[in-house]
Amino acid sequence: MDNTINSQNHIFCSFCKKKENEVKKIISGPSGHICNQCVLLCYDVLNKDDSNNNKSIISLPTPHTIKKYLNKFIIGQKKAKKIISVAVYNHYKKLNFSLTENTIQIEKSNILLIGPTGTGKTLIAKTLAKYLQVPFSISDATTLTEAGYVGEDVENILRRLIENSNYDIKTAEKGIVYIDEIDKITKKTANISITRDVSGEGVQQALLKILEGTIASVPINGGRKHPQQETWKIDTSKILFICGGSFFGLKKIISNRIRHISNIGFNKSNQKKFFIKNNKKNQKKIIQTKDLMKYGLIPEFIGRLPIIVTLDELTQKDLIKILKKPKNALIKQYKKLFSFEKIKLKFDDSAIIEIAKQAIEKKTGARGLRSILESSLLHIMYKAPTLKNIKSICIDASVIQGNNSPKLFFLEKKSDINQ
Ligand code: ADP
Repeated sequence: MDNTINSQNHIFCSFCKKKENEVKKIISGPSGHICNQCVLLCYDVLNKDDSNNNKSIISLPTPHTIKKYLNKFIIGQKKAKKIISVAVYNHYKKLNFSLTENTIQIEKSNILLIGPTGTGKTLIAKTLAKYLQVPFSISDATTLTEAGYVGEDVENILRRLIENSNYDIKTAEKGIVYIDEIDKITKKTANISITRDVSGEGVQQALLKILEGTIASVPINGGRKHPQQETWKIDTSKILFICGGSFFGLKKIISNRIRHISNIGFNKSNQKKFFIKNNKKNQKKIIQTKDLMKYGLIPEFIGRLPIIVTLDELTQKDLIKILKKPKNALIKQYKKLFSFEKIKLKFDDSAIIEIAKQAIEKKTGARGLRSILESSLLHIMYKAPTLKNIKSICIDASVIQGNNSPKLFFLEKKSDINQ
């Protein structure tokens, strides 16, 4: 009997064994059949192979184009955007090149972002990944511990990237991983003699191989690694790692170093100029490896992050721009929200300045902007959907200060929210 026809004379797919009545279509060949579902599956497999083998990692924009794109979303941080654009360009250029030239060694150019909270570190990494259309994941270094201890294994960082790549390992291998709070895994010197430093130096040690490039084993079902566990194998040599942290206190370490140099009188006249210039404005821009070591990063770890970028504290002017200018600026978002109810939301310049001022006071960078807006607009967002015929709502500084309610303008006449 034909082995693709069963005892009840039903034709079935030679691949998945489904019967003719279980699928849309069966195509018959001289010695077998294939159903429409298996045709699609084969098509997908062939397509995937093609894209993995033949195409370069990504079609690569120039550093100038990358920076131009970043400008649309990230306010200020001019120098940082430039350094990152070049670093990212070089990273992917090396990868593209190495696809055809086996002799070229890929050197990793992972990036360390240093800057106060809410200055755009995560946003830059996220925006880059979006632009380059590569998978992206964010992990928090504070959740990690050395393997075998309570907490997350470092491989979980890669797990998140694989998940965000729809479990396509080849795609994940070209992704960008952002590790936040990297300054919280510094060596805890006070700890050394009593217990193992499993969440500080231990994590730095555990991250070394992944940052440098290795074939990592990531448990498919999550949790701690153990020998019987099924794992994904992922090559991390092409993954771009961006680590970020606020490094609170680093400024002091640097100014101590500079003061020390100037005190011992080395090249005194020049040094003085250097000291004044750097100590005032550009202090963080001259970070050296030894400063980071003093802060608690081990030299091998610093070595895996060769590109160090500092981000500036955002000024009031920057915050005003952040509120108004980027593509998804907060003011635009709230205006859009109200527009769904056909209400025009207007912000007086004084309101925008007041929001920026309050955010500076909070010392949370641009992070504070949303919560200030949210609390200022809470009452009107609660009320507006039940009030009829509102044409526009006007917010000025006094509303942000909490001293007044927003002014409401109705289709007919001006009114107050409390009416
Ligand atoms: P962090 O430096 O702490 O990683 P984030 O990048 O997470 O800060 O910033 C938090 C939010 O603040 C962002 O989602 C964005 O809305 C806003 N933001 C921060 N910095 C900038 C910036 N330079 N330009 C535009 N928006 C910014």
